[in-house]
Amino acid sequence: MAFESLTERLQQAMSKLRKKGKVSEADVKEMMREIRLALLEADVNLQVVKEFTKNVRERAVGVEVLESLSPAQQIVKIVDEELTKTLGSEAVGIEKNPKIPTVIMMVGLQGAGKTTFAGKLANHLIKTEKARPLMIAGDVYRPAAIDQLKVLGQQLDVPVFDMGTEVSPVEIVRQGMELAREKKNDYVLIDTAGRLHIDEALMDELKQIKEIAQPNEILLVVDAMTGQDAVNVADSFNQQLGITGVVITKLDGDTRGGAALSIRSVTGAPIKFTGTGEKLTDLEVFHPDRMSSRILG
Ligand code: GDP
Repeated sequence: MAFESLTERLQQAMSKLRKKGKVSEADVKEMMREIRLALLEADVNLQVVKEFTKNVRERAVGVEVLESLSPAQQIVKIVDEELTKTLGSEAVGIEKNPKIPTVIMMVGLQGAGKTTFAGKLANHLIKTEKARPLMIAGDVYRPAAIDQLKVLGQQLDVPVFDMGTEVSPVEIVRQGMELAREKKNDYVLIDTAGRLHIDEALMDELKQIKEIAQPNEILLVVDAMTGQDAVNVADSFNQQLGITGVVITKLDGDTRGGAALSIRSVTGAPIKFTGTGEKLTDLEVFHPDRMSSRILG
C-alpha cells in the first residue's frame, strides 16, 4: 500500500521526542530535518515540503508547546493538523446542479483510470443516493474503452450512450446530453479520451466537450504511481481546462505517495476521491483528516 515507508519514517522522526520529558528547540529542529527528508523521499513537491515544514516549525517552537506537560504529543498533533491542511482541510463532495442532470466529466491521461472511475462513481451514486445516471462513451480513440464502459454499465444496470468510434466525441456528448434530459437522468457521467501526453488536440476537444456539456464537475483522474508527473499533469489540465476536483487512482499500489500529498497545494483543486483497486467498490471519498491519520499511522 501507499505511504508505508513514509509512515515509518515519520513515526521514527517523532518517536524520538516521545522519550523526552522536555523538548528543546534543537530537538524540534532535528525532528523537522527528518520529516523534511522523509517527505522529499516520498516524492512530495519541494515547495509543498517547504511550506509544510515552515508551518509546523513555527507552531512547534512556541513557548506553550515546549513548556507543556506533553510537548511530544502536542507536536504530533500539530504535524497532523498541518498535514490535514496540506491535503485540503475539509472533504469536498460532488457539486450538484440545482436542476437535473448534474453533469460530471472525467478527464486525464490514457491509463490513469478514467473509465474505471466512471463505473465506480456511478456505483457510488447509486448506493449513496439511489441515483439514475447515464454514462456517455466519449473515448473514441481507444475502442476498448467503449466496450469497457458498456460492460461496467451492464454490471451496474446503468445505460451507456455510445455512437461507436466514427462520430466526433463532441457530437456524441451533444446527443447523449439530449437523451439524458429526455430520460430525466439525474447524473450524466462523461468518459473522455486521454493521450499518453498532454497535447493541443486533446485539450481542444475537451474544451469543446466542456462547452457543449456545461459540466458541474470536471474531475481529473491521475495515477498515483506516476509521482510528480501526476502533479504536473494536474497543473496543466487545471490551467487549460479549469478542473473542479481530482481523483487519485492506484493508491493500493506501491507508490511513495508524494503526488497525493502535493496535488492539492500545487493546483488548489480539491481531491474528491481515491481509487484503491480495480473493482467497482474500490473507491473512497477523500477526507483530508482521515488520510493524514493514515499517513501518520
Ligand atoms: P483510462 O484509460 O483512463 O480510461 O484507464 P482505465 O480505466 O482503463 O484504467 C487503466 C488500468 O488501471 C486498468 O487496468 C484498471 O483496472 C486499472 N485501475 C484503475 N483504477 C485503479 C485503482 O484504483 N487501482 C488499481 N490497482 N488499478 C486501477
